[in-house]
Amino acid sequence: MKITCPFCKIEYAAKIPKGRRAECIVCGHVWAPDGARGRNRILMWLLMAAFALLVAVIAITMTTRYAPANKTEETIVVEMTGFRRTAAADGARIVISGRVKNMSGRVYGIPDIMLVLRDDAGEIVFTQRIMPPAPVLDIGEVAKFSHTLSGVPENARAARAEFVR
Ligand SMILES: [Zn+2]
Repeated sequence: MKITCPFCKIEYAAKIPKGRRAECIVCGHVWAPDGARGRNRILMWLLMAAFALLVAVIAITMTTRYAPANKTEETIVVEMTGFRRTAAADGARIVISGRVKNMSGRVYGIPDIMLVLRDDAGEIVFTQRIMPPAPVLDIGEVAKFSHTLSGVPENARAARAEFVR
């Protein structure tokens, strides 16, 4: 069997056992004639690539799993469904109705709700914080609420409900 030193190109007639390294007597270069070392290096790269892939998959899984906790506004929704003025002996009142929906695939605790009333120009003229209609909503569950506001300015028109954070 003929082997060649990859460094100085000197040729040797020698049989190197599989997996053993050869040392060149001329230049001192050490190499593996059967390429065992090269295969090990490829194996190392494959292992490192597999490990990197595993880390990436874990990172994506964690991000996907825990992301909904930071996106409460997209998974539970509060919306207003009614805005009604009533006349009472002690002044005008506004009855606001609405609902909270759990659109997510998880059970959610519901925060307080802020009712925001604006005038025709869009300026906020009245706000009131109310308790949620249910402390917790199951997956897909809807809870309706109806709340009477008093002391609301005459010019209050459009209203909006949002979660207090
Ligand atoms: Zn050599």
